[in-house]
Amino acid sequence: MTQSESIISTEAAYTSGVYPKRQVAIVRGEGALLWDADGRVYIDCVGGQGAANLGHAHPAVVAAIREQAERLISCPEIFYNDQRAAYLAELAAALPFAARIFLCNSGAEAVEGAIKIARLKTGRTGIVAAVRGFHGRTMGALSATFEPKYREPFMPLVPDFTHVPYNNIAALDAAVTDRTAAVILEPVQGEGGVHPAAPGYLADVERICCERGALLIIDEVQTGFGRTGTLFAIEHHGIAPALLCLAKSIAGGLPMGAIAINAALGPLPPASHGTTFGGSPLVCAAARATLRVMRDEELPRQAAEKGAYALERLAALRLPRIRAVRGQGLLIGIELKERVQPFLVALMERGVLALPAGPNVLRLLPPLVITYEQIDAVIAAIAEVLA
Ligand SMILES: *Cc1c(COP(=O)(O)O)cnc(C)c1O
Repeated sequence: MTQSESIISTEAAYTSGVYPKRQVAIVRGEGALLWDADGRVYIDCVGGQGAANLGHAHPAVVAAIREQAERLISCPEIFYNDQRAAYLAELAAALPFAARIFLCNSGAEAVEGAIKIARLKTGRTGIVAAVRGFHGRTMGALSATFEPKYREPFMPLVPDFTHVPYNNIAALDAAVTDRTAAVILEPVQGEGGVHPAAPGYLADVERICCERGALLIIDEVQTGFGRTGTLFAIEHHGIAPALLCLAKSIAGGLPMGAIAINAALGPLPPASHGTTFGGSPLVCAAARATLRVMRDEELPRQAAEKGAYALERLAALRLPRIRAVRGQGLLIGIELKERVQPFLVALMERGVLALPAGPNVLRLLPPLVITYEQIDAVIAAIAEVLA
């Protein structure tokens, strides 16, 4: 038995069963490369499903985690803490609309909290979300998620959620009423097939929310931290949401989430929400290093340039199996005329790890530090498997 086979058989025996697993055991990473247990190298276009924007084992994040682990790992928010204080100030400075930030541990938890805050602050219950939207899998977040196969086994979900077609302002206009607490949208629908918001759409949504007293929740769990070519995707749209949800790459790969809260909402009532691990010194230290690296290495600009390069090269392939190529920054979707699954396997055999986004979209979500040579190699492999 190889090392990989041994790891796979042990994990397969005990894993919950919820994940469609790939037959590979990943044990090490550096930049945009990953190694399996038998020493085989892969170009990573899964990017930790969005958690690895900085690249694997970034030395600044490794150093921050190591130093902080030796000083203090956990510290609940009933106490003040140096790393948390500094991070809150640094993140708020990167989000000019935000006056306050709630720290948590995942994307679903950030969405869950944003829904609660919207209900609390408006005294209303309705939430309008989008067809093909993805917001996570806890009961509230799942209620905002569209995909029927994720939702239906768990009905009834939280009441008063409706879904309208994305990028359709008339449908949204009709759905937002004086009972709507919030509208929740992604700036690029990631899991739902890589659909960027049309120019002007989110600004129109913001205006409608404002007119009707509903809050705009923007879910940047996947688009945040440089992915779309700006530090946050809202910068493309000139909007200032009531609530902004962050997670995935926020802390260089450690589990962390955040809700940035618009100054207009004021503070939250004491004891209205909370979470044990939120804002721990360890994740805050990693998140501080992440923000520093984002700036020092100009990762948003790199994502914009590399993404434009990759999109242009992919569009030039003109293969009959490809229906459309779209994306923003390094969040790229290649829509096929057939199911994507066999091509993901064929790419892995050629040393490229990629993601699906729905049944027939091939999604590329590489670390933003991927090199041009690596992008060329990925595109060559895609051209080969789709030929
Ligand atoms: C991944 C994702 C989530 C859920 O995040 P988890 O950390 O997996 O709970 C929510 N919203 C969007 C847009 C996502 O891409």
